[in-house]
Amino acid sequence: MKRQNNRPDRAAVTPTRARSWAWIAWSLAAVPPAIGYFAAPETDATARAVLYCLVSAGSAVALAVGVRLHRPRVSSIWWLLALGQVMYSGGDVAYFLAAAQGESSYPLLANVLYLAQYVFVGAALVVLNRRRAPKRNTAALIDTAIVAVGAAVLWWVLLVAPMVTVPGVSAQDRLLATVYPVMDVCVLAAAIRLLLGGGVRQAAQHLLLGFLGLTLLGDAAYGVLTLAGSFTDGGWPDAVWLLGYLALGAAGLHPSMRRLSDPVEERSGATLFRVMLLGAATAIAPAMLVVQNLRQTDSSDLVVVVASAVLFLLVLGRMAGLIAAQRRIAITDGLTGLYTRRFLSETMRVESERAVRHGSSFALLLLDVDHFKTINDTYGHPAGDRVLVEIARRLKDACRGTDVVARYGGEEFAVLVTSTVPDGLDCLAERLRDRIGSTPIRVDGRTAVGVTVSVGAAALPPHAVSPDQVVKAADNALYGAKRAGRNRVVVGDPTRDGEPTVAGDGDAADPDELELRIQRWTHTVIGALQGRAAAPSVPASMVAGVCAAWAVMRTPRLGHPGLSREHARTELRRCRGVQFHPEAVDAFLSLEAADAVGSTPTAGPAPLIMAR
Ligand code: GH3
Ligand code: MG
Ligand code: MG
Repeated sequence: MKRQNNRPDRAAVTPTRARSWAWIAWSLAAVPPAIGYFAAPETDATARAVLYCLVSAGSAVALAVGVRLHRPRVSSIWWLLALGQVMYSGGDVAYFLAAAQGESSYPLLANVLYLAQYVFVGAALVVLNRRRAPKRNTAALIDTAIVAVGAAVLWWVLLVAPMVTVPGVSAQDRLLATVYPVMDVCVLAAAIRLLLGGGVRQAAQHLLLGFLGLTLLGDAAYGVLTLAGSFTDGGWPDAVWLLGYLALGAAGLHPSMRRLSDPVEERSGATLFRVMLLGAATAIAPAMLVVQNLRQTDSSDLVVVVASAVLFLLVLGRMAGLIAAQRRIAITDGLTGLYTRRFLSETMRVESERAVRHGSSFALLLLDVDHFKTINDTYGHPAGDRVLVEIARRLKDACRGTDVVARYGGEEFAVLVTSTVPDGLDCLAERLRDRIGSTPIRVDGRTAVGVTVSVGAAALPPHAVSPDQVVKAADNALYGAKRAGRNRVVVGDPTRDGEPTVAGDGDAADPDELELRIQRWTHTVIGALQGRAAAPSVPASMVAGVCAAWAVMRTPRLGHPGLSREHARTELRRCRGVQFHPEAVDAFLSLEAADAVGSTPTAGPAPLIMAR
């Protein structure tokens, strides 16, 4: 019978000595042929070619061995890189053979093979970047484009433009002089994407980026020196290339290559490095323009100007993205994902203005978790956090998309309801209380806790006339619910018994209370006007003006008792169509006659306590 072995595969989790040291062995082994290449006599072209290819093709072998040794999760990346090196070495062989036969220019086959290397390396980087960052990341793409456009300008001004304009160059060479830099910039863009992609940097990533950076540097140096007519085999660009292949082989053999393609936590914030890189890339185009002017050659001006414009737009897009991200952070609670208290206050201010202008209403519900400290003390803070997250989820589920659900404080939540009539407020508050308390919340694999909330709610109007008052009224209601035994709903401010006295009651009215009353009348009159299908639309401000005039006439002030009801009616009729909108006056007076507005106060909205 087979014995069950539950122990993890040691080979899979612990790198053997060979796995750990292979990359160092390769790095050491690549040094002698590299030194030999420079030490070999210039006349011995075959020896130099063999020594050079030992490193460049050797890196392809190193990559293949790395795949066998480390078994990376996505091996295609490493095979593509290895194929790229095979192509490159093939190109070198074709070049050396042609040179040995005395040909002075590059054979076509060598060029085709060299260009094939770009295709394979580019494909490898695309696969790698997509694996590391499967989600679309506009910020990272813009950053990459900024650096790539900056680099493209550099390549254009230094390599492409001079090569295109230099006399005595064949059409094929001109074309190749353009294609190589374009390929370089494409590979550079993929390398920048990898560099800015975030995640914990592993040695394999450093080595791969080293390979890309060194080969691009070697290519650029080759182009510049060729233009100047001073490139020779065995010069320093060869050393840069060889170092690049050494780094590539080491990347493929390093143990960290196994996880290089794992998805990473992308960073798109403005780190110092990123800002400096983007700043430098953006400065390239204008700097080149200055250099061009100093040199009095303006052949590249158009490219530089277009690139500057593209860079400017890209930077603008990136800034807009950053501002949007900052705004998102400012209005989103980190733990629950709900809106923050700051956003709630902003929205409440806007809603309050809308309510005054259009005679609409909004309501605020405050929910406080009952005995939450006990949950923290019994199950621990992380469990408390899980409870808060679940309450937030249930609240969001129970509310409409137009409601603003916010974390108001530690274990307090708030819901701003903009589309409910105050009459439905108690039902809504009750529904939220029930939704949160109906099912216990799981705090770990085995334990679920029953959690209840107390809810205080108030609306503008009728319980308040300003956002501050709504908060105060809802807060008082919440404490009323707590005092009444918790796990219940209180609607309206229990600290106020009935409505304040206004006109006709003898005492001078409190200005706030008077405002509240005017707002309620306005609301009622607008409601009545909207009920009349044939009525023209009367602006809310006109209605509010009539209500305010009525309140002023009827309010007793020092030494003045206020107008009688009949006198005030006569005054309103006198100003009808002159100072006040006739429809507004008519609607107000008919409602006033029915004691719906403007009369001595009836009992106000007494707090409604819904006990459990
Ligand atoms: P009451 O029924 O009177 O509201 O009792 P309570 O225990 O809920 O009230 P109290 O205000 O005394 O306790 C609130 C607790 O909420 C205290 C604080 O440690 C805890 N708290 C605040 N913010 C967080 C948070 O983000 N996570 C966790 N786990 N606890 C929090
Ligand atoms: Mg609290
Ligand atoms: Mg509490």
